[in-house]
Amino acid sequence: MERESLLATLIVLLGGLALQLFAVWPGRIGYSCASRRLERLHWLVLWWPAAPALTVAAWLCGWALSQPDPVPGHVGRLIFIAAVPFAIVGGRALVRAAWSLCHSPGVYGIVTVGLLRPRIVVAPELAKTLDERAMQAALAHELTHVRHRDPLRIWLAQFVTDLQWPWVPARRRFIGWLATLEYARDDEARAEGVDGADLAAAVLGSLRFQLGIDAAAATLIGHPEALPARIARLLRPLPIGPPDKEPPYLAVAAGLSVVWLAAILLGILSGERLIDSLLAVSS
Ligand SMILES: [Zn+2]
Repeated sequence: MERESLLATLIVLLGGLALQLFAVWPGRIGYSCASRRLERLHWLVLWWPAAPALTVAAWLCGWALSQPDPVPGHVGRLIFIAAVPFAIVGGRALVRAAWSLCHSPGVYGIVTVGLLRPRIVVAPELAKTLDERAMQAALAHELTHVRHRDPLRIWLAQFVTDLQWPWVPARRRFIGWLATLEYARDDEARAEGVDGADLAAAVLGSLRFQLGIDAAAATLIGHPEALPARIARLLRPLPIGPPDKEPPYLAVAAGLSVVWLAAILLGILSGERLIDSLLAVSS
């Protein structure tokens, strides 16, 4: 059998299995910190269940490196049948990701769209209903989405969440991250001089326009579930705490690189025995 076809099938099966197993992890962050740091921590938590699946994929790549092409073994029907549910979940995630790219934002008030070149789009009706200060607050909030390329980040987060379908904790992690994303952007706009009450008025004013956005877009109102807490937060004074520190991205990236390199080496050294046993059982 062709080596790459077998590798792809095994990655779908074993990587998909690892992703589904870790998707049930609740991933709750139980402490409070500045909104920007909290958003970054939620971002890491959102991606964490993908790490074991990537480790399995690295191990399989190591195995493939040690194999001739074509490989002598062949895949039994059992492996193909077992891989089908994971292929369906992956296919669904890809279709939804493509759909959100082609799909227009629908009914909106003010929204940031564009994965590579984010831009702000405003419904003309919104400008008529908001006063000048609320409109400026809305624009300042959306500008922070542009600065951080949030449409791209939302699109990627939605994709990794869809790969963990249908698990509720994965969906909860996504909604939790979206809520902290809006907190962080609100605080950034307020730190630049926007009044919280003006921003709250803009959010409430744009509510009537925004029904069921399902595109890769960063909106003003964010996720509806998080809205009451966010409005209450905007009406309180801006929290002033110690300087915001970034989460330890470099340490996480270095740690994961070491783990993935070790997985590749392990795949080269011991993959053949395990994969041969798996193929023998399935045929
Ligand atoms: Zn927003």
